Amino acid sequence: MAAVRQEMAAHGIQALLLSHGADLPWLTGYRAMPLERLTMLVLPEDSTAVLVLPEIEAPRVPDPGGLFEVRPWAESEDPLSWVVRALGVAGTTASRRSVGLRLGVSERAWALHLLALQQVMPGASWVPASRATGALRAVKDTAEVAALRAAALAADEVARALQAGEVPMVGHSEARVSAVIARRLIEAGHSEVNFAIVASGPNGASPHHEAGDRSLGSGDLVVCDFGGSLSLAGDVGYCSDTTRTLSLGPPRAEIAEAYAVLEEAQAAAVAAVSPGVTAESVDAAARKVIADGGLGDRFIHRTGHGIGIEEHEDPYVVAGNRTPLVPGHAFSVEPGIYVPGRYGMRLEDIVVVTESGVEVLNRSARDLVVVDS
Ligand code: ZN
Ligand code: ZN
Repeated sequence: MAAVRQEMAAHGIQALLLSHGADLPWLTGYRAMPLERLTMLVLPEDSTAVLVLPEIEAPRVPDPGGLFEVRPWAESEDPLSWVVRALGVAGTTASRRSVGLRLGVSERAWALHLLALQQVMPGASWVPASRATGALRAVKDTAEVAALRAAALAADEVARALQAGEVPMVGHSEARVSAVIARRLIEAGHSEVNFAIVASGPNGASPHHEAGDRSLGSGDLVVCDFGGSLSLAGDVGYCSDTTRTLSLGPPRAEIAEAYAVLEEAQAAAVAAVSPGVTAESVDAAARKVIADGGLGDRFIHRTGHGIGIEEHEDPYVVAGNRTPLVPGHAFSVEPGIYVPGRYGMRLEDIVVVTESGVEVLNRSARDLVVVDS
């Protein structure tokens, strides 16, 4: 919180208003339900932080340990009045006293709440809270890296089961395989399943395909991309995210060749990770291999995304992101090759930048594993 306050001062932000999104649990240990009832941590630059939240949610707030006050509001109360009070602009003059205030608000706050706040404080200007929190939250500390490592190992258990043929595929629907992956993610220690993509045959060409009733058949490539949130030692939960592509039966030569390019591209991008290099250079390393393999136009998304309390957060591994990597940056490296109407393939690991290079958190086999079950 002290570091965030320094960033606020540097950006001329007098207070942060943190609602839904990852900044709130990151700073308070409290994960709010995405309710329409207002939850908002008011974090002024130089006075006590106040967590305004529905009274019915108050029992779930962990001990604030003096870091912030808890201000539950009853169903018949106006929670905005508590927000302006915590900002020090309460009363009939709130609209006048808000003139010149620069407030940082969660990008994931409900528009409903932001619009109401703007009406109460028409003189204030608004910026995304991530200006003060983004760069700090992107750099994971030792405990956060340990949590990401534990989540990755749990996801790897599921990947290994898939690769070992323990999950029946041929003749089963994508939706059924997806449900088995979800169950296994929980059995491996996740507290929540965030997604379990199973994209078979031509469906694999859609990177975020929603598992459906297509029946898996011999000769299919199957893209399995899954992750959840795992809570280690009572923390708010850190995410896993891994992709492995399976071949149901021996792959055709064309597929095997394309997969060799994909595997080389992913390895090249991981090898490019090092403190001081830019995020975009990691993307370029993967893209060059795929372009050299003649498949450049089949790689239609960025190479990766940061990961932490959220599945997708800073830093994004994409052309144009010149952020220099520093130890503690955690992100996915997940190039893919997609041929519409025919097949898709993707290979994804989570990596963490270390003092000397990179730690790869996912450990399951990266080659195109053939499954006959
Ligand atoms: Zn993924
Ligand atoms: Zn991912």
